[in-house]
Amino acid sequence: MSDLQPIRIPDIGDFDSVDVIEVLVSVGDSVEAEEGLITLETDKATMDIPAPVAGTVTALTVSVGDQVSEGDVIGEMSVGASEAPAPAVESQAPPATPETPAHDQTQKISEATAAAAIKDADARTQMLVLGAGPGGYAAAFRAADLGMEVTLIERYESLGGVCLNVGCIPSKALLHAAKVIDEAESMADHGIVFGKPEIDSAKLGEWKGSVVSRLTGGLSQLAKQRKVKVVHGTGRFVSPNAVAVTDHEGNEQIIGFEQCIIAAGSAPIRLPFEPDDARIVDSTGALQIDPLPESLLVVGGGIIGLELGSVYATLGVAVTVVELTSELMPGADRDLVRPLQKRLSSMFDDILLNTKVTGMSSADGGVEVSFEDKNGTSTRQFGKVLVAVGRRANGEKIDAAAAGVNVDERGQIPVDKQMRTNVPHIFAIGDIVGQPMLAHKATHEGHVAAEVAAGEKRFFDARVIPSVAYTDPEVAWVGLTETDAKRDGVAYEAAAFPWAASGRSLAMGRDEGKTKILFEPGTGRVLGGGIVGTSAGDIIGEIAFAIEMGADAEDLGLTIHPHPTLGETVGLTAEAYEGTLTDLYIPKKKKH
Ligand code: FAD
Repeated sequence: MSDLQPIRIPDIGDFDSVDVIEVLVSVGDSVEAEEGLITLETDKATMDIPAPVAGTVTALTVSVGDQVSEGDVIGEMSVGASEAPAPAVESQAPPATPETPAHDQTQKISEATAAAAIKDADARTQMLVLGAGPGGYAAAFRAADLGMEVTLIERYESLGGVCLNVGCIPSKALLHAAKVIDEAESMADHGIVFGKPEIDSAKLGEWKGSVVSRLTGGLSQLAKQRKVKVVHGTGRFVSPNAVAVTDHEGNEQIIGFEQCIIAAGSAPIRLPFEPDDARIVDSTGALQIDPLPESLLVVGGGIIGLELGSVYATLGVAVTVVELTSELMPGADRDLVRPLQKRLSSMFDDILLNTKVTGMSSADGGVEVSFEDKNGTSTRQFGKVLVAVGRRANGEKIDAAAAGVNVDERGQIPVDKQMRTNVPHIFAIGDIVGQPMLAHKATHEGHVAAEVAAGEKRFFDARVIPSVAYTDPEVAWVGLTETDAKRDGVAYEAAAFPWAASGRSLAMGRDEGKTKILFEPGTGRVLGGGIVGTSAGDIIGEIAFAIEMGADAEDLGLTIHPHPTLGETVGLTAEAYEGTLTDLYIPKKKKH
């Protein structure tokens, strides 16, 4: 009987990503403990990586020219009474040599190591997915559709992760309610006056909950239809091929797996000086709108803070936003944020820019918050405080080290273009692999990981990932921004179409929108775009598609868009660039 043991790069000092310059052994070789397996070279020295124990090399996943770091699994050894030939699965496969494709070697390791892990596991699965958010459930369903036997681990009763339960969907339900109120009010200037809305925050909260349940219930159904086994409990790695899952009653089971996709997401960052006070909430707490406070401070002027701040303001709460930097929604071009900022300035009580929150304390009448700006310090009291200063990946919360999976200082798990971690049979996707922390990115990465795990040659090679703030007006952007182009010295030509000239926008009583597209000088190829205005998030997909397809201004301008729509502003912007626009008079640009 022999045990299989992964071969890991040990502590190699302060070096990261060190070159492999020689592979000293082959699969099938018997080696003594401490015998050199591979040679690494840094700019300072060369060093041999020794065999951790005596045994037979059953797999190797590195070749000359690869780079490795501490903790990387580079192969596997069979250790035990006899240095018996590798298990059956091994002997059927061609011997892994440095020339064998990495994927084949990975499969060999996965099968062999999983076989060993099964011995001690309470259950086994071909594919284990840890976390059922938009990344995890998409990966699990795709893997099942590709014929894999899949187990999906989720710590909460409800599937769907942050996005469905406490993120994208509930926030958009509340934003819709806010929009209805705003639009009804705005009709007063055009001859239709509604009474002041009566807000039943409990009922509104119930409706939001029903939207969420409908979607999450649908996911459970989809899992059943695909025969994806859902296990509720908190998972942590106990080895490179096993996860321990503890359910709500404290019962633990070990699930052995051949391959795994980590999709454990992220969590809101809290401020170090927050007192324990139920009136200080993160985005999840802010989605509980019943009862509504009289005042709300939003700490952080990013997308989540502005979306939720807008909801509270429309529901009659006095909202203040405080932002450390000089601008709201960093990352988006200023000309796109400006119309939003103008509107928010009239909706919110105050917008404090270049201002730092330095402390918080609990008082009877509310939360006392201290601020510091260029004029000195001040204190104000708020009924509720939403801390929306960003999210941190959950990499440190799953005992990734037990599987040999690297986690960086931001809690993120580094992956390659196939979403593989440093351990070849373990993938990671979604928020846990880093920015942008967006549901649609997580879903696409989930598909790639599942397809690679199933043996397909796939890569996460999307050119662009769109960002959207579902505020009113919405702000959406994709690809190159003007801010980034200027900072990085990227050549571009920009064209814009003001929505004041859009019949549809005017018919909706809104004229502050704008569609802007950046083109490559000389070719007219679309490099990026941004939109501010109603439904900007629904329109931006066309610009993303243009970038993916390598389309140019002529392609967009000659595509007949339906009239009158907000979407036609994309075609009109391209026409403005081409000099063919007739809806506006734009003096001719110097042509490329
Ligand atoms: P998550 O959705 O975080 O899912 C991870 C899952 O793993 C969770 O269900 C968690 O319970 C589970 N889990 C974690 N650890 C364990 C463990 N040890 N064992 C078992 N289960 C575990 N994105 C958009 O694209 N559009 C939006 O409009 C949008 N709006 C948002 C609004 C808000 C208020 C917030 C907070 C986020 C919003 N996001 C939005 C971001 C989006 O929700 C995330 O990017 C997305 O949910 C990430 O998906 P994921 O699968 O990586 O992780």
